[in-house]
Amino acid sequence: MSQDIYVVIEHLRGQMADISYVLCAAARQLAAASGGQVVGVLLGHNVQGLAQDVAVDRMIVMDDPQLADFIPDRYQQALAGLLGAQAPRVTLFGDTSIGAELAGGLSVQLGWPLVSYCRSVRADDGRLMYISQLCGGKLMAEGEIPAPHALVAMVPGGFQAEQGKGSQPPPVEMIAPAATAGGRIALKQYIEPESGDVDISKEAILVSVGRGIQNADNIEMVEELAKVLGGVVSASRPVVDQGWLPTTRLVGKSGKRVKPRLYLALGISGAPEHAEAITDSQTIIAVNTDPSAPIFDIARYGTTLDMFDLVPALTEQIRRAKQ
Ligand SMILES: Cc1cc2nc3c(=O)[nH]c(=O)nc-3n(C[C@H](O)[C@H](O)[C@H](O)COP(=O)(O)OP(=O)(O)OC[C@H]3O[C@@H](n4cnc5c(N)ncnc54)[C@H](O)[C@@H]3O)c2cc1C
Repeated sequence: MSQDIYVVIEHLRGQMADISYVLCAAARQLAAASGGQVVGVLLGHNVQGLAQDVAVDRMIVMDDPQLADFIPDRYQQALAGLLGAQAPRVTLFGDTSIGAELAGGLSVQLGWPLVSYCRSVRADDGRLMYISQLCGGKLMAEGEIPAPHALVAMVPGGFQAEQGKGSQPPPVEMIAPAATAGGRIALKQYIEPESGDVDISKEAILVSVGRGIQNADNIEMVEELAKVLGGVVSASRPVVDQGWLPTTRLVGKSGKRVKPRLYLALGISGAPEHAEAITDSQTIIAVNTDPSAPIFDIARYGTTLDMFDLVPALTEQIRRAKQ
């Protein structure tokens, strides 16, 4: 029985997704305990040049024009053929829009258990253990990764992307996918997000607001702070859903990934869909009145002060310091 740990490498439109490195870092921990290899699985068309710097022992590339765009059922069929035949001990996916869709379908198709929202993995006396975050990160569930085969969908936060980078391109094995044609889903058009507003993915300082801001009128207070800091305002989903800020400012799974020097999170709980998009920030500072808010797990600095007390005082102090 194979003890290998497979990692489904995620990419979109020629760009590697950072979660792929996180998965490789996790896979290395598991492989050290299982005694197997870390094997990357890269699906697409003309993608062999991607993923040169991932820390895997070898890379399986399934190259096919039918896999040029992410079409869920085609990708699922290709992976089901590969995983069914090679039967790795564990297969890791990102718990992202792409990874979660694949892992769920494959779990049903292969009859293998799926561990979702997994934040961390480790070995314990030869057993492979997972920790999953539930209820938006408020609860942690620990368990053993089921044997003989399991699928694990991981959220970021437990490992640094840097830990999953390698210095040498891995050896590549080309495998033709068994079935990719047809399927019930076809890609008609790729729609780029609207532009025109600031591009928050390129900003060095983001002052980000969450539901804790309470109403649209209070956004002005945050705009003031962003202005004195030389940054821009971004937001979590409830703020955008309410129409208090445009969707171009949305940080998260359904918005943008950001990597500023400073990410100041005001009244944001740190739900996985938000947290996954800010882990590349150099410094995260969290302001949240709830000391158990998951944002504190990924923040370097934090305070449980009420933002309505802190923000005006901080703005004033910075303004004075600049005079
Ligand atoms: C498929 C899917 C995609 C999603 N995509 C995204 C996405 O792209 N981006 C995103 O952000 N979310 C996304 N979500 C929603 C996500 O699950 C959370 O619901 C959302 O991130 C919560 O936003 P929040 O932290 O602002 O609000 P809450 O979770 O309600 O947190 C508000 C926080 O403010 C704190 N607070 C309240 N008052 C104060 C105060 N005066 N001072 C300081 N702190 C205070 C509270 O303690 C609380 O922790 C998605 C969900 C799904 C299912």
